[in-house]
Amino acid sequence: MPVALITGISGQDGSYLAESLLADGYQVHGVVRSPGEENIGGLGAPDALTLHTLDLLEPGRLEDLVTEVRPDEVYSLAAISSVFESWKNPVRTGEVNGQVVVRLLEAAQRLSADHGHPVRLVHASSAEIFGQAAQSPQTESTPIAPTSPYGASKAYAHLSAGVFRARGLHVSNCVLYNHESPRRPETFVTRKITASVARISAGLQDGLELGNLDARRDWGWAPDYVAAMRLAATAPEPGDFIIATGVSHTIGDFLDAAFSRVGITDWSGLVTVNPAFVRPVDPAEQLGDASKAHTVLGWSPTVDFSTLVHRMVDHDLQLLAA
Ligand code: NAP
Repeated sequence: MPVALITGISGQDGSYLAESLLADGYQVHGVVRSPGEENIGGLGAPDALTLHTLDLLEPGRLEDLVTEVRPDEVYSLAAISSVFESWKNPVRTGEVNGQVVVRLLEAAQRLSADHGHPVRLVHASSAEIFGQAAQSPQTESTPIAPTSPYGASKAYAHLSAGVFRARGLHVSNCVLYNHESPRRPETFVTRKITASVARISAGLQDGLELGNLDARRDWGWAPDYVAAMRLAATAPEPGDFIIATGVSHTIGDFLDAAFSRVGITDWSGLVTVNPAFVRPVDPAEQLGDASKAHTVLGWSPTVDFSTLVHRMVDHDLQLLAA
């Protein structure tokens, strides 16, 4: 039975990844900060799942866990994953998103090289490493030039993965573009929109406040991105892979799709732009070219933009009806 270790198992991607690995017969170990995490709750307690309660910033605990679990595959997903949050706490963002990943790389390297147990590691890198990219769409060769503490922390981990790869570790960076699902918390704009639209349609909320409605993002379906990470882990050769749909939409497009799902075509009076929600530096457009992932990993996205938005709105309507 192959063994996988997931940091960030209680997050959006970690929970989908755990489900996918368990369904394929893996023994899954996950790091959680507190028991009873919401997304994990749906997994039940299969024998093949072991949760380890620790804060990744606790010195030595992660390294000990890698030695104890002896994973075949490691998925480094834990992060302060919000750009907005990273501006409020840049130091901690650097520690969790950067240093913790390097500690994981070192522990995996030690298990591989010193203890003869081959480990494959996937790091959840981010389109935010490219900052205000001059080139669109971005590829694996686009210059790394982050414009937020989040992007800088991901860039450090991304580049460190390359350093350990050069030393022989099978480690891949999946450069993930925005991917969404009903498991996104409302602190992210997409879920804030779909949850608000559901409440507005039910007469429970008057309107919503957002930041820049013109920001363009390349949005995909989270389980597709988890599938890409699994393909990267099992690929013959490690590498950097852009994981994106190759189609971008504005926040305004997202609002159109969400409101139209509940029969509202003119939402202009329901949405207010609040400068407090505008990022200090906001990449105007993120658009990824996933040709390499398509060719090398055989990966393609399966869910288009409007289906993604509709699934999220439908889920939020169901929550209200429950
Ligand atoms: P998420 O839902 O925010 O999950 C992050 C996870 O990290 C949570 O389980 C969180 O645990 C855990 N974590 C944070 N700090 C920790 C600490 N000190 N110790 C232990 N666990 C800690 O993120 P996601 O959307 O699933 O994203 C997964 C990864 O992909 C992240 O690295 C993210 O940066 C990256 N990524 C995501 C996107 C996207 O669009 N979703 C795009 C690009 C890159 P708690 O629940 O205890 O906070």
